[in-house]
Amino acid sequence: MDTRLEAVRSIVLDRNPGEGEFHQAVDEVFASLVAVLDKHPEFAEASILERICEPERQIIFRVPWVDDTGKVQINRGFRVEFNSALGPFKGGLRFHPSVYQGIIKFLGFEQIFKNALTGMPIGGGKGGADFDPRGRSEGEIMRFCQSFMTELYRHLGEYTDVPAGDIGVGGREIGFLFGQYKRITNRYESGVLTGKGTSWGGSLVRPEATGYGTVLFTQEMLRTRKQTFDGQRVAVSGSGNVALHAIVKAQELGAKVVTASDSSGFVVDEAGIDVDLLSQIKEVERGRIGEYAERRQETAKFVDGGSVWDVDATVALPCATQNELLEEDAVKLVKSGVTAVAEGANMPCTSKAADVFHDAGVLFGPGKAANAGGVATSALEMQQNASRDSWTFEYTEERLTDIMVGIHDRCATTADEYGQPGNYVAGANISGFVRVADAMLAQGVI
Ligand code: NDP
Repeated sequence: MDTRLEAVRSIVLDRNPGEGEFHQAVDEVFASLVAVLDKHPEFAEASILERICEPERQIIFRVPWVDDTGKVQINRGFRVEFNSALGPFKGGLRFHPSVYQGIIKFLGFEQIFKNALTGMPIGGGKGGADFDPRGRSEGEIMRFCQSFMTELYRHLGEYTDVPAGDIGVGGREIGFLFGQYKRITNRYESGVLTGKGTSWGGSLVRPEATGYGTVLFTQEMLRTRKQTFDGQRVAVSGSGNVALHAIVKAQELGAKVVTASDSSGFVVDEAGIDVDLLSQIKEVERGRIGEYAERRQETAKFVDGGSVWDVDATVALPCATQNELLEEDAVKLVKSGVTAVAEGANMPCTSKAADVFHDAGVLFGPGKAANAGGVATSALEMQQNASRDSWTFEYTEERLTDIMVGIHDRCATTADEYGQPGNYVAGANISGFVRVADAMLAQGVI
């Protein structure tokens, strides 16, 4: 590694011990930056790299709540306000038992560059808790959300920090969080959270945006090789918000999506995933993926455990969680003839898996570009809240499409400009970094 980058990297590793995912995210961005430092020595002179790796503020707090049996439960809440050079901190909340500081920091770090790539005025942040919503009653989820917000509210505001959903936090949880914020502050401040219901300040297309955006980004990548989604055999992982809407959009564009998964295993449906059935099971009944195969025995089968990437596909869209697609999975996918991979989830491919795709000439869209449609539509929700307006589905989807095409083109042009044509990872990292670094430089040493 370049000595300038290596020096900062060792500071980051020393200062953040045991935070493997954060180190991985920093390494991935740094790997793209040598040419940037050569072209912009002023960034290193102003210690932009050191500053960008240190969050502006990190909050860790106790979240006490009472379960249905009357027992007191304690969780740990987090909010990492990483960088506000371009706008208020913006990024989702994750409720999952695996959450700790390193996960939130990796997500917050990625979010800085993702948000910059959208071209919109939003900084980067992320938060969450090590709370496991699975198996909890509606009342328990509500009490947890209320307790979480009772601490977090003092750090939020439409011009300060604007959370949204992520794993384990969907429309229901945003509702409980917003209700508690409103109650404590006595303000109907719509722009303080995004992902709201449409009757109380939410934006149409926000629920669909991340999955749709991932497919739209992939479509643009395919277009550079004169291909389309029509007739592609697509493997999707996950069955949450991102996965469900990626499946819908890919099928709308003529593809056959043959897989979906959750943490218990995956299903293969050679007739193409029936999204209505899948969303009924996962979103309404909050059931497990195996139930899908039970109800569609003629065409679908459930594989307990195992890897969804064992299934042959020409396009792969990992939409579940970080580090879910390993080097050996990438090798299998390449052998099965995959031509495009786009990350609907954040950092689902390990660095080695991404290398396999690059070496094989597979189109590879990194999460900070491919899944940026979610946060971009959150920014559109903030615009609607600020102007007390609400846009139609068609208009909002058009804006999302323009944004995704813009992100794709920005990545492609930047990769060309820095001598790495077709490398969307380099294009995304450099383009996002330069926009933030320029703003930080202009704003002085803060
Ligand atoms: P959801 O909670 O709606 O769904 C997550 C899905 O991933 C579920 O199917 C879940 O299965 C599965 N999953 C979670 N953890 C694991 C694990 N350790 N192993 C296997 N499967 C797992 O989350 P989202 O769809 O919102 O988020 C998915 C990914 O997309 C995350 O990486 C998130 O950061 C990213 N993302 C989300 C955005 C959004 O707008 N929601 C925006 C940008 C990125 P199970 O039910 O069994 O846990």
